[in-house]
Amino acid sequence: MNIVGLDVGSTTAKAVWLKNGKISFKIVSTHNWRSLIEEVKKELGDVKIVSTGYFRKKVEHDFTITEITASIYGVKDLLRRDIDAIVDIGGQDTKVVDVKRNDFKMNDKCSAGTGAFFELVANYFKIDVKELGKLHFASKKVPKINSTCSVFALSEIVSKLVEGYSKEDIIRGLHFSFINRIIPMIPKDAKKIALIGGVAKNAGIVDAFSRYFKVYVPKEPQIVNAYGCIAYYEKLGL
Ligand code: ADP
Repeated sequence: MNIVGLDVGSTTAKAVWLKNGKISFKIVSTHNWRSLIEEVKKELGDVKIVSTGYFRKKVEHDFTITEITASIYGVKDLLRRDIDAIVDIGGQDTKVVDVKRNDFKMNDKCSAGTGAFFELVANYFKIDVKELGKLHFASKKVPKINSTCSVFALSEIVSKLVEGYSKEDIIRGLHFSFINRIIPMIPKDAKKIALIGGVAKNAGIVDAFSRYFKVYVPKEPQIVNAYGCIAYYEKLGL
């Protein structure tokens, strides 16, 4: 029977399965998780679902694992190298797994340092979050943005625009200010980090982290935990 890894997070639901040894996946908004499963079943027939993510116990599943386990197995299998920490930046929370000590930290109390922050920024500039990375590299000078709080950052954006900084400059400044919110969660001795979650698709964020760490980003960073469900299940030989 086909094994499907299902990661239902606060923003998106991701389904991953293997087809002739190749990774296939679908990503939908979280509230559409039922139709995601229906689509997958239509394609694969009967499936065994291994779930993870914030809503892992609320959705249809045969087996569940935590996001921490899923990320460790997913990263290990996809990157095939030793890393010190996994930084998973999702829509509404950020998790940092200390791989060496088997420990983790999570921020789910505040939108600063999560994807929600950039949703707000993109909305302000009337652009798509997908454009943030490209704009980051078009910046000529970087303003220092102190606020990591979403509410205060918006007023700082206005002052920087008034001072004459461009949209591109401000976005780059925001990327640097954003990672400063996450760095304190990363173990002090970590040198090699894996960046995963939807926000890892933003090349500006990858660039900002790269100033401080050796950064590895799997090809599809948003589906690592869903893939990790399959990797874990196969490892157990269930
Ligand atoms: P969760 O698992 O918490 O539901 P995800 O890991 O799916 O979250 O990440 C969702 C976040 O990723 C959203 O905030 C979204 O804006 C962001 N995101 C998705 N794709 C991109 C992209 N191409 N560039 C920048 N941000 C992205």
